[in-house]
This record gives sequence, C-alpha cells and structure tokens, in this order.
Amino acid sequence: MATVLLVEDDYVVRGALLRSLTDRGHTVHAVGTALEALRRFAAEPPDLVVLDLGLPDLDGADALRMLRGMSDTPIIIATARDDEAEIVRLLKAGADDYMVKPFTSAHLDARVTSVLRRAGRASREEPTTIEAGDLRVDLAQRQACLNGEPLTLTRKEFDLLAYLAARPGRVVSRRELLEEVWHQPSVGEDQTIDVHLYWLRRKLGESASAPKYLHTVRGVGFKFATPG
Ligand code: CA
Repeated sequence: MATVLLVEDDYVVRGALLRSLTDRGHTVHAVGTALEALRRFAAEPPDLVVLDLGLPDLDGADALRMLRGMSDTPIIIATARDDEAEIVRLLKAGADDYMVKPFTSAHLDARVTSVLRRAGRASREEPTTIEAGDLRVDLAQRQACLNGEPLTLTRKEFDLLAYLAARPGRVVSRRELLEEVWHQPSVGEDQTIDVHLYWLRRKLGESASAPKYLHTVRGVGFKFATPG
C-alpha cells in the first residue's frame, strides 16, 4: 500500500487508473497537468508517481526532470509512444520504469509492486487500519471497533463498512457497492444494500436519519464521513 501521485490528463484513463490503484489499497492523488503534479508533489511527497508523458502544459520529459530534481521518489512513465530511443532517454533521465499505452490494470499493478519493492517501500507488513473518530477498522484482522469495543459484524456488513471507510468523503454508488462488495451486477430495485446498511447502522449506533459515519446521498449512493 502506497501513496501514489497519478498524473494523467485524459479524464477517462485517469478515472480507470485511479480506480484500479485505489482498489489495490493505494491512496491516490490524481491530477491532470504537470504544474498541478509539481505543486502536489512538493506539498505532499508520494511514495510513487505514475506520469503520463503527453500532458497539456509541460513536456513529460521536462516534468520528469523537475520531479527528479525534487526527490528520488520512484516514477513510472506512461507513454503512448513505443519509441525505444525515447524510452531509454527517459530511463536515463531518472524514470524507474515505463509502460506503453494502452496497458491493463494488472500490468500497472505489477509495475507498481515491482517499483515499490525495489524502492524498499513495499508491504511493510503492518496491518492496514482505518481510523475515523471513535471507529477503528482493522482490514487485516477483519475487525471493527467502536470506542474500543469490538463490533459483531457479519461478513458482508464488514465488507460494506471497510469498502466505504477506505473511501472517506467519496460518494459510492449502489451499483459500485453491488459490484465491488457483493460481486453481482446491479439489477433494478435491490434491497440487499439497504438491509445490510440498516443493521450496520444500528451496530454503529446511528440511523439513516441520524447518521454519524454512513451518510445517504439521495439518488446517488452513500458516503463515509468522520463525525465532526
Ligand atoms: Ca495524455
């Protein structure tokens, strides 16, 4: 698990990569220009950068050199150009690895894992725990605690909580939950989510009308938030 700065100006590609990296448990900051990337990089250095070379504002090779000038953070280049001379030049300029578009999320995952391993930052073997207010969700132990008290959750209640808690502040659609938590396609008016959410909310000491962590976004989906 790592913090990844994703630099890609194509909205569709960026969304797909963002989702695939997030699904692997990485924390992703996605930006669409080189200048945003440099600003973000300086403000909060990531563990890894995935850098598209064809950006609207700066040449990717210049962006690479500027990032490299700031730190040794691993950088994976994503290029549409399958040009060996260009790739060699970029590797010499400090890129750690490269991928030629289009690539699959499995390919991206393999490169990310290998680059992080080489950088000595991969899997620090610490359990991944999400903490929010009085709630603690231990993903490795599959145990959630509220005020230090273990909650008795069913498998799906835990999966639902973990999925939402891992994406704080993001509205997750019903369709996404059905696909990612229940691994089933969205079929019309399905009460599955509502039933599980009802019980999960009771166990968290909240309800749809008085939410603390699990907020319904009407007509869209659900959002995890830390109680203020
Ligand atoms: Ca591009």
